[in-house]
Amino acid sequence: METLQKQSLVEKDRQNVWHHISPYSKESSPMIVEEGKGSWITDHEGNRYLDGMSGLWCVNVGYGREELAQAAYEQVKKMAYTPMTQSHVPAIQLAEKLNEMLDDEYMIFYSNSGSDANEVAFKIARQYHQQNGDTNRYKILSRYRAYHGSSMGALSATGQALRKYKYEPLSSGFLHVAPPDNYRKPEGISVEQYNLQKAKEIEETIIWEQKETIAAVIMEPLITGGGVLIPDPVYVEEVERICKRHGVLLIIDEVICGFGRTGKSFGHKHFNIKPDMITMAKGLTSAYLPLSVTAVRKDIYESFKSNEDNSHFRHVNTFGGNPAACAVALKNIEIMERENLVDRSVELGERLLNGLDELKDYGYVGDIRGVGLIAGIEIVEDKLTKEPGSKERVGKLIADCKDRGLIIGKNGDTVAGYNNILTLSPPLSSTDEDIDFIISVLRKVFSENE
Ligand code: PLP
Repeated sequence: METLQKQSLVEKDRQNVWHHISPYSKESSPMIVEEGKGSWITDHEGNRYLDGMSGLWCVNVGYGREELAQAAYEQVKKMAYTPMTQSHVPAIQLAEKLNEMLDDEYMIFYSNSGSDANEVAFKIARQYHQQNGDTNRYKILSRYRAYHGSSMGALSATGQALRKYKYEPLSSGFLHVAPPDNYRKPEGISVEQYNLQKAKEIEETIIWEQKETIAAVIMEPLITGGGVLIPDPVYVEEVERICKRHGVLLIIDEVICGFGRTGKSFGHKHFNIKPDMITMAKGLTSAYLPLSVTAVRKDIYESFKSNEDNSHFRHVNTFGGNPAACAVALKNIEIMERENLVDRSVELGERLLNGLDELKDYGYVGDIRGVGLIAGIEIVEDKLTKEPGSKERVGKLIADCKDRGLIIGKNGDTVAGYNNILTLSPPLSSTDEDIDFIISVLRKVFSENE
């Protein structure tokens, strides 16, 4: 123990902490973050960074909110825990609030993470069909490039092979089709036609797979982690029609897109659709405490209410709906409303995209796209062939931004396992100056890397 205490924090970290999804590296030091305020974080050596990714796309109201700490403190002091086999006041209030935001049509099931929320949605979809006599409907249709979580079912729904192949066999019954990628659409076809064609591929897959076997389609309103792929509205609306036509449930994954990230309270509100289930996490508490939700249409819930044995949803988790997490979520939503963060998401997103527009002139920038306060910069080796930017080029841009005090992300899977799209998802509470800082760092870094 004594020797451990003599070691630096970095050495202790190296010896004891297994980091998430990070390749082992002898050379690079882990970033040990000690403080956060607004959009800025400070590491243990006092270096400050603007967190252009809000952690993992989640700290929507920014860091250091005393009100959120207070909400958690008060609730823990009063009543720290009760399982959701029972109920408690913050869970009831939060469910009511979410339903107000969702037009009062859903039952709220609590879990801990986005992965959990999606697992719950898959299980509900399967049981719902079984209880309606549709006993063959078990397959879940998802898209390539999508990310839906890391647990076995959620990973099975994920469409990024590099994250998956070492853990196979995963759950059976998960299918994938390609999403629309408007930047890479074929020549000679309009965006709308192309998006309708992509929706048609979902319908074809449903038919080829025998439509009586398909339980649900899951998709994000826009693919976030797979490279910020923004569909034309006709795509999402057509997918909903296809689902209805074939008795398939539509699950919308709002884990990133919810709570103002795309400039609406929920991402699916950009479209004229009514999902059967909606999953949420991250921005629900701005990640101050873990909490997730599967919102299920009330008419689906009805088929779980019969008196037949075992017709209830036989799913429980210890921490889901934790009272302090629910209290924090309520306060988080209150802050979002008080500070008009959904509108700010639109304003700041426009400011960001306008400021980044000039980067399009660089030979290695293929596309810049965004909606609300989420943006992607697609790096290419060649503008004409659209060959994805090399690992080295993308890595250097990210490292140079960090050297200048800006954290950005990378994502994509344009080619399996290949992240050539830089991502930005700063806190919705960012100031205009924060956004200008992001723009100025990116402009400098891009010009230095010409
Ligand atoms: N769904 C989407 C769209 C996500 O981006 C994520 C996480 O990044 C998840 C689900 C899984 O959430 P969690 O990491 O909380 O399990």
